[in-house]
Amino acid sequence: MPALALAIARAGAIAYSPGAMPTLLVPDRLTSHVAAGHPWLYADGVPAIPGARTGDLVTLLGQGRKPIGQALFDAESPIALRVLSTRRGEQAGPELWRRRVAEAWALRHATLDLEHTDAFRVLHGEGDRLPGVVVDHYAGFLVLKLDTPAWLPHLPDLLAALTETCDPRGIYFKGMSGSQRASDDPATAPRTLLGDEPPEHILVREHGMRLLVDVRRGQKTGLFLDQRENRALVRQVSRGRRVLNLFSYTGGFSLAAALGGASRVTSVDIAKGAIEGARANFGASGLDPASHEFVAADAFEHLSACAAAREQFELVVVDPPSFAPRKQALRAAEAAYTRLNAAAIRQVTPGGLVACASCSSHVTMDMFLKILRESARVARRALRVLEVRQEPADHPTPLHFPEGRYLKFVLAVAE
Ligand code: SAH
Repeated sequence: MPALALAIARAGAIAYSPGAMPTLLVPDRLTSHVAAGHPWLYADGVPAIPGARTGDLVTLLGQGRKPIGQALFDAESPIALRVLSTRRGEQAGPELWRRRVAEAWALRHATLDLEHTDAFRVLHGEGDRLPGVVVDHYAGFLVLKLDTPAWLPHLPDLLAALTETCDPRGIYFKGMSGSQRASDDPATAPRTLLGDEPPEHILVREHGMRLLVDVRRGQKTGLFLDQRENRALVRQVSRGRRVLNLFSYTGGFSLAAALGGASRVTSVDIAKGAIEGARANFGASGLDPASHEFVAADAFEHLSACAAAREQFELVVVDPPSFAPRKQALRAAEAAYTRLNAAAIRQVTPGGLVACASCSSHVTMDMFLKILRESARVARRALRVLEVRQEPADHPTPLHFPEGRYLKFVLAVAE
């Protein structure tokens, strides 16, 4: 397969050669945590592994030095080990990657409406038991993102598994998540690894809604796929409403609202490119952008301007970026979420709808509902909750991995 060989060479990755597997004696207090399915072991909680290098597959040993699993080692990350398998006799390596990819692909086919949707997550890292690997599918193109360089030596085998199961038109590598990794490192720089270069804009379908995706310049892998079902919900409740979509990105919620019959949709995002993308998305669906409003501005300032102009909406969508990327930022984040949601709730007409989201994993659902209670109190409005949602089926999370549950979405009537 010459294309694959070329991709491997261009990936700059040295193929993994299994030697004697390093071992780690897992402290007793952590063995049940591994057995239950938690996918991480922190560097400060486990002994050092002499001689181990990033990318090594490590055998985890429990009491009596009995093997309890296998994990991928990262020498630099606070997450030293990502657990790959806890099943007896299961061997981490190309065959396991192949099985995991095939299982994930089958799960998407079993749970998603792929007749009308061709933009979805194929691999959601920990939730698909390939921790640290994210792969999204956009109309036949795969976009890969890694949380750890520990996967680089295994990349050729992972690409082979993806090619075999998904038969993609091309595989684009979006690089490493997190800013601490140098993006100018040729091994981790974004590029096409296999097959065709993705076009500048890939036209995808989401429950039949057409969206343009720029996988190179877009945020995440191009789209916020985790909001797909929530966009469908917004489409369902938008008929005849004036809609304000704050933090619109390329207008996913806006387009859903417009196609659902909203009378006028205002999209607000601080990024000019995102607003241009939103306008283009309206055009691609045959909607006249001139009938709607596109504003490149700060959402907080825009809400203040709406308040000053006494402008209200029958539906306000609030989907900000994470205000708490680190646990230490939680206090400040709670205050910011409250300020934002209170200001948004004030701009909802009496009896209108508000849809509030948070994508910070440090903010639990309970915390978010508390934030919304406080926001409603500050805005002097009563909220009646219609829907409370978390990640969709293509973003699975192990039950014993609450850290993986990051998305909260609440639709409510503001009295
Ligand atoms: N709702 C979107 C995703 C939103 S992502 C969807 O379904 O596709 C968060 C967006 O908030 C990003 O596009 C980012 O550019 C924007 N953003 C960040 N800070 C902002 C601010 N202060 N005001 C307005 N937009 C902001």
